[in-house]
Amino acid sequence: MEKLSVADQDLVHRAREVMKNAYCPYSKFQVGAALRTQSGEVIVGANHENASYGGTICAERSAVVSALTQGHRKFDAIAIVTALDDPAAPCGLCRQFLVEFGNYKVILGSSTSNKIFESQVKDLLPYAFTPASLDDYNQQSTAAQK
Ligand SMILES: [Zn+2]
Repeated sequence: MEKLSVADQDLVHRAREVMKNAYCPYSKFQVGAALRTQSGEVIVGANHENASYGGTICAERSAVVSALTQGHRKFDAIAIVTALDDPAAPCGLCRQFLVEFGNYKVILGSSTSNKIFESQVKDLLPYAFTPASLDDYNQQSTAAQK
């Protein structure tokens, strides 16, 4: 934690704090996420489960969806915290969701240890399918019609 900037430490603290709002009666696995926009606002999210398991939403997507709803599209960093001593990485679906909005810092933390793992969205999902992939397809299609 000490090697993080004050702003990044705050992000981890916000993610730790919001874990308590997780609704996870099935897994009992609380996750908190704090997303910092490029304008410096911090928007939090927690995981929320559902008796119909497919309706579950992870903390990362919860934070991003909340940010999008508030009109934010550009992100600077996301902190994700679980109660595992070794920080856990986002699931595949969340990695795809995060990469939709470009590349930014990912800080994985723990509520039970001071272990931190820092990465970038692009490094968590190599060869990602992104909006640029669709742009490439649309340009290819337009060229083929000429
Ligand atoms: Zn996830």
